[in-house]
Amino acid sequence: FLTHLKASMEDVQQTYIMIKPDGVQRGLVGEIISRFEHKGFTLKGLKLFQCPTELAEEHYRDLKSKSFFPKLVKYITSGPVVCMAWEGPGIVAAARKLIGATNPLQAEPGTIRGDLAIQVGRNVVHGSDSQENGQREVALWFKDGELCEWTQEITPWLRE
Ligand code: GDP
Ligand code: MG
Repeated sequence: FLTHLKASMEDVQQTYIMIKPDGVQRGLVGEIISRFEHKGFTLKGLKLFQCPTELAEEHYRDLKSKSFFPKLVKYITSGPVVCMAWEGPGIVAAARKLIGATNPLQAEPGTIRGDLAIQVGRNVVHGSDSQENGQREVALWFKDGELCEWTQEITPWLRE
């Protein structure tokens, strides 16, 4: 039993999900949060936040050489974003699936981008692309004490 418990605990990951300024302006905050809540993942951190330019640049540092980088930074800092840390087994890849392809016209119906967006430069939501980036981004966007350690009482109804 203990080995089984250990194996399932080891698969618990954290990911950074962010509702971008277009999602906030369009009133999609509740809709997007619901997708993750209804899936059964655990919310560990949540805030509405006006992102400074330097943080947007650091978050997207791997895209610095892209031609759209200045536009991207302007987009992300153009209004408040909703920052979230979510936890669950296999959540990094699962959240990417829930979010859908970067280009919303290529994103499958049923995904957040597939259902709610049409352009890559207004694709309403961000999700970390690896476990390593999940940890990096949660630490980048949340200060010590902003994440909540809590027991989600329905966990036994979601995880064996
Ligand atoms: P993601 O992980 O699916 O969000 O995609 P990427 O990490 O490749 O890119 C980060 C974000 O940059 C995307 O979500 C888009 O908002 C934006 N982006 C990516 N490619 C383009 C592009 O070709 N044009 C524009 N305007 N924005 C882009
Ligand atoms: Mg990415």
